Order: sequence, then structure tokens, then C-alpha cells
Amino acid sequence: MRALLLVSSLIFASAAAVAAPPPQCRQMAVTIDDLPIASMKDDTASWEAITTGLLRTLRERGVPAYGFVNEGKCVVNGVRDPRRVALLSRWLDAGLELGNHSYSHKSLHALPLADYQTDVARGEAVLTEILRKRRQRLEFYRHPFLQTGLDLETKTAFERFLAERHVRVAPVTIDNAEWIYSRAFEKDPSARERIGVAYLDYMEAKAAYWERQSVRLFRREVKQVLLIHANALNAAFLGPLLDRFRARGYDLIPLREALEDPAYTSPDLFVGRGGISWLHRWALSVRSSREAAASLLEPDEPSPPAWVMEMAGVTSE
Ligand SMILES: [Zn+2]
Repeated sequence: MRALLLVSSLIFASAAAVAAPPPQCRQMAVTIDDLPIASMKDDTASWEAITTGLLRTLRERGVPAYGFVNEGKCVVNGVRDPRRVALLSRWLDAGLELGNHSYSHKSLHALPLADYQTDVARGEAVLTEILRKRRQRLEFYRHPFLQTGLDLETKTAFERFLAERHVRVAPVTIDNAEWIYSRAFEKDPSARERIGVAYLDYMEAKAAYWERQSVRLFRREVKQVLLIHANALNAAFLGPLLDRFRARGYDLIPLREALEDPAYTSPDLFVGRGGISWLHRWALSVRSSREAAASLLEPDEPSPPAWVMEMAGVTSE
């Protein structure tokens, strides 16, 4: 109880220390997961085309995105495929940055900690090589499915493991179900325009939701971190998506800069199955009772419409 009250006062102390910025000063870091490509198609030529589309959009708009890699996808028939490794190098050559998202995208909830850590370490091999060539080093880790542990002991033991490797957790605030739109987009090529337009509306509603959640918790809008994936949907619609965010007043900033916001020093004591936004984790870390924590959670989080879910063949987010 004492510890929880302390946590509560810490959060609100840091909230009070920073004045609310006007809406035109919104800031967001763009992070893109599951590199080289998140797709149901395991075909290197289409992966190259998707990479070209994503990088073109990011370059044209001058967006400093951060990519998170599953190196296991660079291995074909047990052998490292240089064409797939080249896709990662193209991100670095475009001036973007790369972090680790584990070798095989397994959940921390599905493996013993030691096996999970082995998979994380294995996911650094190519990255370390290609970063070293450019005098860069591995700095961030993103948990697959944003699943960070079912108990505090495992969660903190894993964070200690990362700290020993001089790697930081890359949190997400603008969490969303973009993967459902992506799946629908791949499954039904004839409906791509309709899915893309619905995706843009959904993502804007989701950004507005997380802005409200931020104000509810911190009494201001924090520097946000967006999560999307390296997929065909974004190869086609990332440009209009980023334009929508800019029209809302967002400056698109590097991940490192977003994490300088003192909100990111708030305690995250959340444990559980959900791979949820850090804005919800911080809210759930504040109070002792479920009811009190619930009062810090913004209601009416947008969901994809039923027709998109159906087209994607999924029953829940
Ligand atoms: Zn992922």
C-alpha cells in the first residue's frame, strides 16, 4: 500500500512539473515493427517492393522512424539470406535506426525466461554486425506482442538482462489494432482502397483516444510513441497516415527524443496477459484498488469495425 501511494505521488509529481503544451506542439515518434516485413506471403521480391514503398514515404516526408527487427525472418532454409539482410541495411542507409524485436517473435509469456533471453540474444547477431559497420550500437528492445511478463519477478529479471546488455525497453503509447487492417488488406486485394481509408480514420480516432488518455493521467499530452508494422498496408497508406498526424499538429521526432519526456520515468508495475499501451500501464500502476485504477482509464477506446474484422478473419483484437 505504502509503495503504491508513493508510485501515485511520483506520477503526479512528474505530471505537475511539466506545463501543458498547446495542441500544435504535439510530438510523436514513429516505430515500425516486425522487420524486414510482416506479411502472410514469404516471398522476398514482394518484401523488397514493400520496403521500397515504406522507405520512399519516410524519406519524402523526412520522418526519423525506428524499425524493430526479427532476424529469424532473414534465415531461409536454415541459411542467412543476403537479400533479406540487405533489406535491413537499406533502412540504415536511409538514415533510419534499428532495434531488436527478438529472433523469432515469441512471447515472454510462452517461454521460460532463460529460453526467451536466448531468443533475444540470438536476435542481435546481424543487427550488431550491420550497426557496427556504421559506428552505431544496439540501443532498444521491443517486446513481441508488447507482452512484458505475467509476474513482476520475471518482468524485472528480464529488464535487468537488457540493462546488462546496455539495451532499453522501447515503450508504445499509441497502441492499436493496425495488424487487423493489414490482414484484411492482404486477404482481399479488391477492397484495398476501402480498407485503407477506414484504416486512416481508425488510426486518427485512436490517436485522439490516446491524447485524451494522456490528459486524464498526466493533465497534458505526452510525447507519443506510435506502433505500426512493416507491411503492405503501410507501403500503400503510410504517406496519408503521416499526413493525417501532421494535420493534427504532430511533429514526427526520433524515438530517443520522445523518451526524454518525464512521463517515461513513471513506474510500470503492470503484469498480465495484455500487450497494452504504456499509458494504460502507468494508469494501472497508480492505485491499489481495481476501481480506482479504472477511474484513470479513458473510456471508449476505438475498435476496428465488424466488416474489417470479418474480412481479416479475426474474432477479437
Ligand atoms: Zn511484433
